[in-house]
Amino acid sequence: MSGKLFVIGFGPGSFEHITKRAREAIQESDVIIGYSTYVDLIRGLLTDQEVVSTGMTEEVTRAREAVRQAEEEGKKVAVISSGDAGVYGMAGLVYEVLVEKGWTEATGVPIEIVPGISAINSCGAILGAPIMHDACTISLSDHLTPWELIERRIDAAGMADFVIALYNPRSGRRTRQIVEAQRILLQYRSPDTPVGIVKSAYREREHVVITTLAQMLEHDIGMLTTVIIGNTSTFVYDGKMITPRGYQRKYTLSADEQPLKPHQRLRVENEPWSLEAANDSLASAPAPSAASAKDRPVLIDAEPAKTAPTSSATGTAVLEAPPAVTEEAAPKSQPAPFDWAMQALTAINATKGIVTEPAAKTATRSTSSFQPEMIFEVAISPGVANKKITPQQMMAIAEVAGEKGEIEYTPHHQMILRVPTSNPDSVTGRLRELGLILSPIGDVLQVKACDFCDGEKKDSIPYAEELAQNLGGREMPKEVKIGFNGCGMACYRAVQEDIGIVFRKGKFDLFLGAKTVGRNAHSGLQVAEGIPKEEIVPLVERIVARFKKEAFPNERFHKFFQRVGVIEGYKWREPAKEEIENAACGD
Ligand code: SAH
Repeated sequence: MSGKLFVIGFGPGSFEHITKRAREAIQESDVIIGYSTYVDLIRGLLTDQEVVSTGMTEEVTRAREAVRQAEEEGKKVAVISSGDAGVYGMAGLVYEVLVEKGWTEATGVPIEIVPGISAINSCGAILGAPIMHDACTISLSDHLTPWELIERRIDAAGMADFVIALYNPRSGRRTRQIVEAQRILLQYRSPDTPVGIVKSAYREREHVVITTLAQMLEHDIGMLTTVIIGNTSTFVYDGKMITPRGYQRKYTLSADEQPLKPHQRLRVENEPWSLEAANDSLASAPAPSAASAKDRPVLIDAEPAKTAPTSSATGTAVLEAPPAVTEEAAPKSQPAPFDWAMQALTAINATKGIVTEPAAKTATRSTSSFQPEMIFEVAISPGVANKKITPQQMMAIAEVAGEKGEIEYTPHHQMILRVPTSNPDSVTGRLRELGLILSPIGDVLQVKACDFCDGEKKDSIPYAEELAQNLGGREMPKEVKIGFNGCGMACYRAVQEDIGIVFRKGKFDLFLGAKTVGRNAHSGLQVAEGIPKEEIVPLVERIVARFKKEAFPNERFHKFFQRVGVIEGYKWREPAKEEIENAACGD
């Protein structure tokens, strides 16, 4: 008997992308078995092969028939799959049918799996270079896989910042899965995350869209579509989706001569992010550059009960969320939060050259009375309108920071204090005594007021204070800044904030949705003039409440305004654009 089984992936569907071995195997075969649409795609390669094509849902019948014809009739049988036969294709099923029959390589019919270009690769190539880094494929089809498991995989991939290729994203009947997938991923990724939607890659009706995670559902997604979700560093340039590999960390891509010479490139001190550097706690390792809002680790309130209004803010500890541990997996002697805090402290200290000593060992001790040190982080300002810090306050801040603490000045009229402590109350108590205002950091609301010309234009200060009191430090889906200026000069640039309030002639002007950073930064839209004094606080509170309730996690206020179109009757409109010539230097 000279029977043989081929399981062939013929790629996305165009002849150019079928491998040489796949063509040969098709030619060598006596019988081709496959879903009829697939057989049609390769029909041009067939000579005198017999074709067995059955309906889509009869995969098991097809696999059994292939095995039967190869084993019993001694035929060379090719089972064909689109893409790669080992990626949601027929390869596994053919093996499973063989296993059921007690097949072994030594005694059974020979089998050859011929690899093909899977949709993640073909669609990736069409989109640019979105895969590039750690990526995964997830099929949204729950016909054979419990949805609960698919959901967990989406969640894990979202959390771990994988680029994700969604296969089988949607069909006539399965329409909710892609909506759920978007919802889960928005918990981890910005609504701006680039998303590529490719339908029928390298086939006649190829259709390509590059959009965002927030807007992906507005596009046609079906059975022949693969959806590729970028990771937190994926960007779009000139209609291409690109995920950087990390070269920018070490190389200057615009220079012929590299600052790091080849022999220096693999040195531990030049890879402070590596496992080896973390182990060595290298004193020379530079602190990692400030994480952008997008890749910032999950923020967990140090004392959730006490967060919220500015006056009672306690600050925020920045820690990676601990991996979900099941009951039996979690060693009882090491409470997860404790480990987690130690891990964070050790990692942060390592970047500063501080070795976290026996405490790390203490972590294995089972004791509940031990209070681990955490990096306590809090924003400090001298007041809503007051911009002057007294020498006494300055000294107190320096003292609580001590040797190991860090003080950073931000562009938002705040100082950030980071200090390792097991007793945040001692820090906050001392600072509050001296009249400093403390607020949590992260995705919270901040009221930024001007200095009201040292109080000369004091009429509107109470409103700024009331807003700060009622809203300051409140947790938000994304940070929100309210700029509040005491006169029409708006010299503290209220119009450049998410929400801008300018006091003028006894009334308020309101601006919404500035884009505060980026090449296309713009001021907020002036949505109202002459709002009576007593109306401003409740109006802004309603705007903020709507944002808090309806914004996607990580959605900036201006994006939200654009998406919802109307807030409190104020309509979003395209901000005026200036035509600017390209800079002569070309970048
Ligand atoms: N074995 C195939 C996957 C089969 S599952 C492979 O490796 O590519 C079917 C899914 O694959 C489709 O729902 C779609 O998500 C994806 N797919 C297959 N071919 C495609 C193509 N030409 N263009 C876009 N997506 C494709």
